[in-house]
Amino acid sequence: MSISANGKSLNTMTVPSQQLPVSYTPDVVVVGGGPTGIAAAMAAARNGADTLLIEQRGYLGGMGTAALVPAFCPYTDGEKPVIRGIGLDLLERMKQEAGADFLNRYKDRLDWVPIDVETLKRVYDDAVLASGAKLLFHTFADQVLLDGDRIQGLVISNKTGRSVVQAKLYIDATGDADLAALAGVPFQVGGEESELQPGTMCYVVTGADKSRFDRFIQETGQGGQLEKTIVEAQQNGDLPDGRKRISGIAWISDTVAGFNFGHIFGIDGSKAEDLTRAAVEGRRLIETQIRFLRKYVPGFENAHLVHSGDQIGIRETRRIAGDYTLVVDDFLSMRTFEDDIARNSYFIDIHLANATSTMTIKHLPKGQSHGVPYRCMLPQGKSNLIVAGRSVSSDRPVQGSLRVMPNCFAMGQAAGTAAAMLSVTGGGFRDIPIRELQSKLIEQGAWLGERPGQADGGVTVAAGHVTYDEENE
Ligand SMILES: Cc1cc2nc3c(=O)[nH]c(=O)nc-3n(C[C@H](O)[C@H](O)[C@H](O)COP(=O)(O)OP(=O)(O)OC[C@H]3O[C@@H](n4cnc5c(N)ncnc54)[C@H](O)[C@@H]3O)c2cc1C
Repeated sequence: MSISANGKSLNTMTVPSQQLPVSYTPDVVVVGGGPTGIAAAMAAARNGADTLLIEQRGYLGGMGTAALVPAFCPYTDGEKPVIRGIGLDLLERMKQEAGADFLNRYKDRLDWVPIDVETLKRVYDDAVLASGAKLLFHTFADQVLLDGDRIQGLVISNKTGRSVVQAKLYIDATGDADLAALAGVPFQVGGEESELQPGTMCYVVTGADKSRFDRFIQETGQGGQLEKTIVEAQQNGDLPDGRKRISGIAWISDTVAGFNFGHIFGIDGSKAEDLTRAAVEGRRLIETQIRFLRKYVPGFENAHLVHSGDQIGIRETRRIAGDYTLVVDDFLSMRTFEDDIARNSYFIDIHLANATSTMTIKHLPKGQSHGVPYRCMLPQGKSNLIVAGRSVSSDRPVQGSLRVMPNCFAMGQAAGTAAAMLSVTGGGFRDIPIRELQSKLIEQGAWLGERPGQADGGVTVAAGHVTYDEENE
């Protein structure tokens, strides 16, 4: 027999039905251990729910560790922190644990703080385990068992075998809305012509000389995005066409730096074949870039590649159809919603879909943000499933803003807190008493805007110390 998929005819085989053991029965299961899933699991466990966090890799962090995304996007609106709570706490813990030199450099900074990957992985392990959540690594969720609008179980695969996780509530923090897609929730991928933001294979180099590099930037009068130098190298055929600037160099020390540089186009991160091609092309591009750095960029003559991403960094895949779709007009008019569970001030940052198109960037005024309503996380037609993070219900421009890590922490914290509340009272995610959820989030450090009764204190970093020094991710 054959079926048609993506215009291709595929042969099919019938797989015999299986009796699977039930391996876990938590109140709340979180699938995906990126920023969203980490905050969701911590919030659910801290609020008393028996919580299991499932992650396909052997460590937490998602794009920030697996794909080596080199820095956290701004936590502030340029004047004050907008993302607080669990996300801000984890940022501060990474700074504290990354050593005296790192702490000295970045202690007063909340925007574009570089990621010290190995420290961050350990900080995440410790924080999740301390919250009381259980961790299950090397495990992939690949099937949902449905009964009407409810998920009854989640099939997982790992070295132990296949089994079912039976939870009361399910949090999809896969970044790709895998659970929602498996459950038949409608979704969109990319733009009107299915165009997608490109992927980037990020990496870390050692052997650099920061002071020499800084002098070069000063002398050439170009910013850290190296625009003049990149254009020159492209004209000489030493770099491929495409974006004429680097997204920024994240200095972990005077000799070690993380790079988010260049693009791999036409990658759908929900397809293994595309991820495979991107891995190969990404590593080839890095080799070209290292040659470029050594030849053109003083301070990088002796640069040595130590690590590239386990996978290509993926900026967008599915966006679910939710009870509310956050649109660009909400962003530009800085709307506040009755059911806000977070605020967002990061700009619209849509990377070019091919080598000849342009970036779309739109900033909000300093000090401004918009609300992120709870309903964006509620997938149509499912009651005990919530989707948080990169793939919530939004139009494409808003996804280009909401997708960054600080926002994902905030959405994850809200989803996890809601799940813990419902694990006691019963009911699905639409049964949440929204005022109670908002109060709990505020009590536990989140910021939902200037609301009566919420003091602006409690955050130790003075707004005047915040620095912006990069233009986009
Ligand atoms: C190149 C690039 C540069 C970026 N730059 C920045 C930046 O400078 N600053 C910033 O803040 N943000 C940046 N971002 C955005 C940000 O990193 C991501 O959007 C963010 O990490 C999304 O968080 P998430 O938790 O929703 O998903 P992810 O970080 O993707 O985490 C999802 C996790 O779920 C796991 N998973 C997925 N499916 C399954 C499954 N079926 N079973 C089990 N586990 C599963 C994955 O292994 C992963 O660990 C960048 C992104 C890219 C790609």
